[in-house]
Amino acid sequence: MIEQIEHHPLDELLRVDRIPHIWCSTCGLGIVLNSFLTAVRESGISRQDIAVVSGIGCTGRAAGYVNLDSFHTTHGRALPFATGLKLGNPKLKVVVISGDGDLVAIGGNHLIHSARRNMDLTVICVNNFNYAMTGGQFGPTTPPGAKLTTAPFGSYEHPFNLPFLVDSCGATYVARWTVLHVRQMTDAFREALEHPGFSFVEVISPCPTVYGRRNQLGSGLDIVKYYREKSVVRNDIDTRECEIELGGTIVVGRFVRKRKPTYLEKMNEYLRQSVGEAFVPYSGPVDDAGD
Ligand code: SF4
Repeated sequence: MIEQIEHHPLDELLRVDRIPHIWCSTCGLGIVLNSFLTAVRESGISRQDIAVVSGIGCTGRAAGYVNLDSFHTTHGRALPFATGLKLGNPKLKVVVISGDGDLVAIGGNHLIHSARRNMDLTVICVNNFNYAMTGGQFGPTTPPGAKLTTAPFGSYEHPFNLPFLVDSCGATYVARWTVLHVRQMTDAFREALEHPGFSFVEVISPCPTVYGRRNQLGSGLDIVKYYREKSVVRNDIDTRECEIELGGTIVVGRFVRKRKPTYLEKMNEYLRQSVGEAFVPYSGPVDDAGD
């Protein structure tokens, strides 16, 4: 007899009253959320010291399912909200979880400037190559040739190569995995959480309902089998080599991990030089007891 499991091991980090979630069957988003919460637990960060911010879209719903301080912002604005949160309370670990349409199209300007500043944020960008929640429009990561509602004969635009984009802007941790690579993805999330500065993890994830159906890729399981066939691990390569073509190889791995001053470190250093040794760096709000 199969024993009924009453509690999920990650229950304490989930708002179980919000389950069942809205994500489609065999969508990759549940795997991403499971990996993220596992990484949070493994990293030992307390629930009081972490906040999750997301934008609009299927991925953006993640903020509603985590039992952490979280905020579901307007379209494209997750990064400026997260930046304000971090500057207001530098002790907080601030994580942005959002999709390619939200972070790279509408929020694209915020993305490049957050990376340029080496803002101390962790960004998880779930890339399913389309605007899924709004019905499957093509976007800035759609590979040429892929069919979507606004590209019925196939997209002809050149897409962003996300690892190269954020690397060239100044990100100091950059990785890409697919939802097939659960262990590597979880390790990457944990490394990104521990990394001082702008850390960016792209996750290639199936959207069987919209992108998969339009391009006849089959179920989510079929798409994950495709990842197994087409993924190549190439750690530390030049991020210019991370382009994705329809039906082509998917390069995965950790591409960038380097240390350089974060935005707050630069700001404090500049103010110390300007104000002198009397300068006391801001380290966050005091608690009610005033200490
Ligand atoms: S529409 Fe696509 S991305 Fe959104 S929940 Fe369904 S399968 Fe996932």
